[in-house]
Amino acid sequence: LRREGFSPIPNVKWEDVGGLDLLRKEFERYIVNRIKYPEDYEGLGVDLETGFLLYGPPGCGKTLIAKAVANEAGANFIHVKGPELLSKYVGDSELAVRTKFSLARACAPCILFFDEVDALTTNRGKEGGWVIERVLNQLLVELDGAEQRRGVFVIGATNRPEVIDRAVLRPGRFGKLLYVPLPSPDERVLILKALARKRALDASVDLSAIAKLEACENLSGADLAALMNEAAMAAVDEKSTSTERTCGTLIIKRNHFEVALSKVSPS
Ligand code: ATP
Repeated sequence: LRREGFSPIPNVKWEDVGGLDLLRKEFERYIVNRIKYPEDYEGLGVDLETGFLLYGPPGCGKTLIAKAVANEAGANFIHVKGPELLSKYVGDSELAVRTKFSLARACAPCILFFDEVDALTTNRGKEGGWVIERVLNQLLVELDGAEQRRGVFVIGATNRPEVIDRAVLRPGRFGKLLYVPLPSPDERVLILKALARKRALDASVDLSAIAKLEACENLSGADLAALMNEAAMAAVDEKSTSTERTCGTLIIKRNHFEVALSKVSPS
């Protein structure tokens, strides 16, 4: 199973995701609660969506939130990188798509996450080519079989929604589109706080003030993670060059963030 990309419940919690509250609420309604309390949804007589497309600039938490959804729901998580499924050998790519869906059914409840899904769903006839055409058709067949895959939720992610074939976005397929934006200044504060959860920060560090600095404008979540890492590295460097080597936890201080800020820019 592991070879096929299967991984058990991811260890990303809601607290690890900064901001994205609206998205979290949507996923609670559409996925988490449906897995945790299926009885609440029985007999509703409405077709609730099981396919979602997260779109937006890179590094803003699409993969992270998909993992948090799986964790919160207690569901398995299969991470598929779109381009990896493409093979030049006839039939291999379609088989790869079928295999991922059958694996997902076998380990339901499950989140089947397609990263860079645009690689598999490019507008027909444009960038596509026959491999993509066939993969796309196979994907549509699988997505349309929602009744046969109870407990399997499909989340796609892309930075290029405009190249995706419209047919993929119909209800019942990747029917619910959710935008994951670049964080606002307030959201940057929440992201830095989430990233700081597992680190020791000195009391002198004011994450709210840092997040609102001009140097942080246009930083994505991934850039803020890089900032946090650079600050930690600056703390390590300081410790290793210090004459009196102290023991104990590494503490990140304000000056370490100053060093980090000079190194990180919007990606
Ligand atoms: P891509 O489009 O490049 O695949 P993505 O939107 O899927 O990017 P992620 O892989 O989720 O981005 O984010 C990369 C890393 O950036 C995360 O592992 C995390 O460390 C950090 N990060 C991004 N967004 C957030 C966020 N909202 N809260 C906390 N950390 C974040």
